[in-house]
Amino acid sequence: MKLILLGAPGAGKGTVAKQLTAIDGSVQISTGDILRGAVKEGTELGKEAEGYMKRGDLVPDSLIMGIMEKRLQEPDCQKGFLLDGFPRTIPQAEALKELFQKLNIKFDMAVNIDVPRDVIFDRLCTRRTCNNADCQAIYNVKSMPPKQEGICDKCGSPVVQRDDETEEAIAHRLDTYNEKTAPLIGFYEKEGQLKTITGTSSEAVVDAIKKELNI
Ligand code: ADP
Repeated sequence: MKLILLGAPGAGKGTVAKQLTAIDGSVQISTGDILRGAVKEGTELGKEAEGYMKRGDLVPDSLIMGIMEKRLQEPDCQKGFLLDGFPRTIPQAEALKELFQKLNIKFDMAVNIDVPRDVIFDRLCTRRTCNNADCQAIYNVKSMPPKQEGICDKCGSPVVQRDDETEEAIAHRLDTYNEKTAPLIGFYEKEGQLKTITGTSSEAVVDAIKKELNI
């Protein structure tokens, strides 16, 4: 499958993507994970991106397009991909359309995961993430804590609250989403490639996607 996952931060894009990769070997491509990895490694990209990310601002489109142009040409993408957290602005969506044309890629659809803002805010405040850049497993102190407090079940690294998951940064990320990213819903609707799924459980969202793709 070749899908674009749309939805506010905390809508469950990453969780849904992880469940979908298990079905057919498609890869999850999360620009947030790639950027956090770069920040941790202290690469040039990481140094440029860090300040924007801490504030909950978007990283400039040009940086993101550079990452994605390379990433989509890696061989593992041929089985399919789930774009998680990209595109995030109309210029990114337009550039992606051109990139798909250039690389001769046809995607199935853009899935809009629609979750109420109060649910999202609560989820983000209680979300915790494994700080190993190669793992980045997601937990929730209320609904899905790691077996041993503060330790990742999968890799044993510390599970932490992300720098951009303070209440202030979360509120800012949600405002940024409404202003810059929500317009993508209209963009893909116009392209005739939008499917909106309302649901708060990732299982329900995954089932709806499978039904839509006949798998
Ligand atoms: P969430 O979806 O939970 O906000 P992400 O992990 O997708 O978190 O992104 C974290 C941060 O990385 C964003 O707040 C932003 O600064 C940056 N980022 C990720 N993807 C993009 C993108 N496509 N365009 C611009 N900035 C991005």
